[in-house]
Amino acid sequence: MAEPRDASITIIGGGAIGCAVAYFLARDGHSDVQVLERTELCAETSSQAAGLVGQVRLSPDRTRLAMRSVAFFSGLERETGISPDWRQTGSLRISLSPERTQEHEQMARVAHDNGLEVRFLGSHELSDVAPSLEFGKIHSALWCPSDGYLQPNSLVNAYVAGAKASGVTFATNAAVTAISAPKGKVVSVTTKNGTVSTSLVINAAGPWAGAVANLVGIRLPVVPVRHEYFISAGAPGWHRDVPVLRVPDLGIYARAEGEAVLCGGWEANALSLDPDSLRTQSILRVDPDLEVLAGFHQSLASVLVGLDDIGVQSIFRGYPAFSPDGRFIVGPVRGVEGFVMAAACNAHGVSGSAGLAEHVLESMQPDPTPYVRSLSPDRFLDSPFDGDQSRQRAQRIYETYYALGASAQGGLR
Ligand SMILES: Cc1cc2nc3c(=O)[nH]c(=O)nc-3n(C[C@H](O)[C@H](O)[C@H](O)COP(=O)(O)OP(=O)(O)OC[C@H]3O[C@@H](n4cnc5c(N)ncnc54)[C@H](O)[C@@H]3O)c2cc1C
Repeated sequence: MAEPRDASITIIGGGAIGCAVAYFLARDGHSDVQVLERTELCAETSSQAAGLVGQVRLSPDRTRLAMRSVAFFSGLERETGISPDWRQTGSLRISLSPERTQEHEQMARVAHDNGLEVRFLGSHELSDVAPSLEFGKIHSALWCPSDGYLQPNSLVNAYVAGAKASGVTFATNAAVTAISAPKGKVVSVTTKNGTVSTSLVINAAGPWAGAVANLVGIRLPVVPVRHEYFISAGAPGWHRDVPVLRVPDLGIYARAEGEAVLCGGWEANALSLDPDSLRTQSILRVDPDLEVLAGFHQSLASVLVGLDDIGVQSIFRGYPAFSPDGRFIVGPVRGVEGFVMAAACNAHGVSGSAGLAEHVLESMQPDPTPYVRSLSPDRFLDSPFDGDQSRQRAQRIYETYYALGASAQGGLR
């Protein structure tokens, strides 16, 4: 790994977002770019992600973003020589109620309007695709054949290889502790190894992005909210090509991990951190919440046969960053020239990393699209926000991730 150095562009954070931005900058012809990472590359939130990549949403913008990500993942190995372990297994959105089916019908319309293939499966097709479903409980099942999952570490390795090939450098154990912006213009960043000059900082510090923004005197509502899933011991009938399952009525998702089941979900009473309490050096430890995980397991076993007695092999967890309106915080910050945000992924920063990185690049162009402009951090500067209220709202976005209508504004990976 390289040391921190003088560079035109400095990206703070070597998770999926920082590495994706580095890759896209390099592809766009910027070679004087460095990534400064506090610990190791892909060692924090990104390393914990389930890697689900879902394209079916109510929001046309998010649908198109996800479709671009899928097209991109399919070609990434060709470009970098490294596979992101992208498996296009297809996905099923299972509805247990007429209201949910109505929502899925609306999603199917958005998909069709945007050229994404989806269809409702009849019972024969459904039993071919997912034989262990408890068919009696299912109201409908929406199939998206081009969805799937990838391995976050492999994805980040591919970004890093592609970026390095174009001259981007990566320094690890290089926590940024200060950013100097005299007269409202970024000129340097400081790590324990000293100060290096840079004229553009991109803040991709994940749940710490609010603390990094504080280094230039900006307060933004980047709220870490706990998320977790378990991987079972081997489960009969499961193999890596089983389609990804989402059961929004139960707040859960599942996919195969080898011959085991990976299952996570969205808690009705989530746990978040006060964004104002975080410092750049804060360590975010998450203890597994076995009660919550047992609830996910119980819900999954209620719609799939043969999962009652599976053991647990491992638990993954972290604090993905949410915003109070469930939207990314992307783009230059008014009043601090050379400071750009790439944060608040609302728990789909792995699947959305490619599209989000493209948005970051676009946000720095003279005339970004209205959608990219709408992600600007300035929306939180225009009307100063109440910390507690922002935290509650961000937490609510998490708690209602799969609620009816939630994907119109939020994630739904
Ligand atoms: C259990 C779980 C399951 C998930 N499942 C999915 C999924 O299926 N699909 C999906 O798309 N997303 C998923 N997510 C969300 C996804 O992990 C995040 O959206 C994504 O990892 C965010 O990436 P990031 O690069 O912004 O953050 P991170 O990966 O946290 O990277 C930020 C980096 O910044 C570094 N940093 C912070 N401060 C500084 C500093 N001062 N100087 C230098 N470096 C600094 C940190 O060390 C860290 O490495 C999941 C998350 C969890 C916890």
